[in-house]
Amino acid sequence: MKPDHPVHRSPADAADRKAVEPVICYPVERLGRPDLGPFLAAREGWERVSEHLVPPREALCFDVPAGSYFRITSVEGPQVGDLNLWAAGDLGERFFSGKTRALHGTHLSAGDRMWSCLPYLRPMALITEDTLDWYGFDAFGGAVHDVIGTRCDPYTHALLSSGDQYHHCCHSNLTRALAGRTGLPLHEAERHVHDVLNVFMCTGFTRDTGQYFMKASPVRPGDFIEFFAEIDLLGALSACPGGDCSAKHSSDEARCHPLLVEVFQPKVAPAGWVAPGANPYDRSHGL
Ligand SMILES: [Zn+2]
Repeated sequence: MKPDHPVHRSPADAADRKAVEPVICYPVERLGRPDLGPFLAAREGWERVSEHLVPPREALCFDVPAGSYFRITSVEGPQVGDLNLWAAGDLGERFFSGKTRALHGTHLSAGDRMWSCLPYLRPMALITEDTLDWYGFDAFGGAVHDVIGTRCDPYTHALLSSGDQYHHCCHSNLTRALAGRTGLPLHEAERHVHDVLNVFMCTGFTRDTGQYFMKASPVRPGDFIEFFAEIDLLGALSACPGGDCSAKHSSDEARCHPLLVEVFQPKVAPAGWVAPGANPYDRSHGL
């Protein structure tokens, strides 16, 4: 955090330096904003091929073939979910929360993509519908579906609670789910768990101190966020122990609810959709 009383005095031209207008780091126009029309139209007559009810304070893995959709729905009450994505068959290619944030901003909605990590950096999923898109940013700077938090984890909790052992943080839930799904030893599976998309979570940074904050999610039963899989995906979703994240996480105190994951297969691929190829960088790194 920035100090209340800086050690160093402002230079004479401090106001001028601060008044410099920002520029957007990554003008995403060159990536092409996808036309969602064909993706929404291709849902006509689609077939629901699987459904998974994620119990509170637990996580589940699910498969989504390229060209299919998956939808995460609030079912019994306000609940936040922590989403991990991997390329099916290669846990080394996984969702890159940081670059997705740099490209699309702190909070995602329909039309944004979820990108994979280096050295892959290609679209993994496209968000096709978000029933909470009306929320935008509130007066606190809060918004829904963030890529600024990481996932609640027992290591941070232990540091902040003088060593308390809590085993149902999203990090642990995702670890158990991935280990169970892949057969990997627990601690090996843990290394593949990564920073998440915080589904339905309402978060921001405080204006005065820049601290990460959360507040009660505006999600209600029936709300959903829907994705189109650009590549074959293995997903994992944790129903966060924070519930709607209005007060506490990393404990059993919050009221929690399940989350529904459904996978849909369209009759025909969205018109014009082409599966993403490899990233065009040649990987020679100057040698
Ligand atoms: Zn969590």
